[in-house]
Amino acid sequence: MFELQKSDRIIAYFSMEIALESDIPTYSGGLGVLAGDTLRSAADLEIPAVAITLCYDKGYFFQEVIQGRQIEREIQWEFSSEFERLPNIVELNIQDKKFKIGGWLYNIKGETGFEIPVILLDSNIEGNEHWQKNFTHILYDATPFQRVVQEMILGQGGMKMLEMLGYKNIQTYHMNEGHAAFGVFEQLEKFKGDIEEVRKRCIFTTHTPVSAGHDRFNYDLIKDIFRDRLPDNYQELGGKNELNMSLLALNGSRYCNGVAQKHAIVSRKMFPGYEIDGITNGIHNGFWINPHLRKLFDEKIPNWTMDYNLLQDVWDIGNYELWNKHMKAKLELMDYEKSHSWVLMDEKKLTIGFARRITEYKRPSLIFDDVERMGKICKKRVQFIFAGKSHPRDEQGKNFIKQISDMSDYLYDSYGIGLVFLGAYDMDLAHLLVSGVDVWLNNPRRYMEASGTSGMKATLNGVLNFSVLDGWWIEGYQKDPMAGWAIGPGPQDPKATEYPDSYDANDLYTKLEREIIPLYYNNRDGWAERMKHAIRLASFFNTHRMVEEYAERAWQLKVQPRWKSGLNY
Ligand SMILES: *Cc1c(COP(=O)(O)O)cnc(C)c1O
Repeated sequence: MFELQKSDRIIAYFSMEIALESDIPTYSGGLGVLAGDTLRSAADLEIPAVAITLCYDKGYFFQEVIQGRQIEREIQWEFSSEFERLPNIVELNIQDKKFKIGGWLYNIKGETGFEIPVILLDSNIEGNEHWQKNFTHILYDATPFQRVVQEMILGQGGMKMLEMLGYKNIQTYHMNEGHAAFGVFEQLEKFKGDIEEVRKRCIFTTHTPVSAGHDRFNYDLIKDIFRDRLPDNYQELGGKNELNMSLLALNGSRYCNGVAQKHAIVSRKMFPGYEIDGITNGIHNGFWINPHLRKLFDEKIPNWTMDYNLLQDVWDIGNYELWNKHMKAKLELMDYEKSHSWVLMDEKKLTIGFARRITEYKRPSLIFDDVERMGKICKKRVQFIFAGKSHPRDEQGKNFIKQISDMSDYLYDSYGIGLVFLGAYDMDLAHLLVSGVDVWLNNPRRYMEASGTSGMKATLNGVLNFSVLDGWWIEGYQKDPMAGWAIGPGPQDPKATEYPDSYDANDLYTKLEREIIPLYYNNRDGWAERMKHAIRLASFFNTHRMVEEYAERAWQLKVQPRWKSGLNY
């Protein structure tokens, strides 16, 4: 292990959410988990980076599901037990007033002891007026005004804070999603309006294949907040009629990328004229592996967490050994389920998991398209565990939770099928689910999933993906179709987005009936072989490989995989 001077840190990674630990409420979902995994891998690989995010004292929300209704409980977080308060204060202007921003420090420690500091900004600072202290209360639950202010704190406040803390040699400001794009304005001011100088220093990763998913703000609001501090060419950079944060980030960056190959293609269509690379997401293998499997991997495949290619050697593991560890993970999930619900589950039954943000485009109720058919196919043989949060204002999403929960009694009484919707989805529950079920179901509307990382967590743990060909699974399934099953048409079908839901549902039922259920019950060795195909995919879909791609193409480090030839930038 070696110590880095602050001036040796040359990459600054900005993200509105970073999932540091399961119970620290600095994340809502996939974006934050990815940011956390990225930094965990960067720490393992000794990348000279520092990270910036916000510190939300009321978090996102704690979810309870009671009789199918999502209840959002407020969190009151005492950060001082997890983070260290930094003495430094920076100031930002908003309208005709100033307010103060402080920072907290959390260190992410890698396998060799190398640390990446994460600076968490907040406005709950002595000297701020009461309304200003509230700016960083809650993640993603803000008026447009508050959201602009939060994004100013992240982008502009973050850059000022880095300067003040002594990070004076940052060569790459990495905007993870458009939330940090006000950093472009900050750099413009520093370089007296020279956008070329700004572009040399900024890069941008977009995560949203849906046009409505990009942050946009009315210019009246922006002008009111920024007053005379807006650069002259703001419309050239951020859009003519409204401020599009992704466009601002694109125009201020030397390099941009989407988070899967298909997502890069979709993004290029959405922003014609921009060069957009594709770096496929990953997960941090060491963080997401189930402890029982870890023991087995450590024994059979030493150093597998660092040298991810070694996971190709999964064939050395015996079928029974692998199944045995999987059953241990499954029993732990069943144990958790029993203490959190009345629904009777049986570890011997084929168990299908579905957990992600509950919202329309993920089609969480597709499996119920023809309930009677589904009931007959799954009768007494298949059980289901659902989980996931809906945004507090996504009424449609919350109705899905109700609809799924309401199916539980009917399916049990009519077909002996156990089905439960578990509340309190967070990284801890995700750990249990992605290793404890047998099949991971994912059926979003096509090309609306940028990447989807929960399926990668499943594959690492030998859980077979059963998914629409979208996001990462297009690549995963193409690399190894034995690692799971595809639902519906593939990306080479030009009409893939035009089929009705019933088409995908029909394919889902047919594969479940003819392939998945028979394999599970009649050929356990065949199933275990497929589990190895799944695990082998994790030799690619991990953040160590992903960070190396960023290092080379985005951060422009001359990186050598550390375990091969030592650190060498
Ligand atoms: C991995 C993860 C996600 C992201 O899952 P997707 O498949 O991208 O929807 C969201 N929330 C939690 C808690 C996770 O662990």
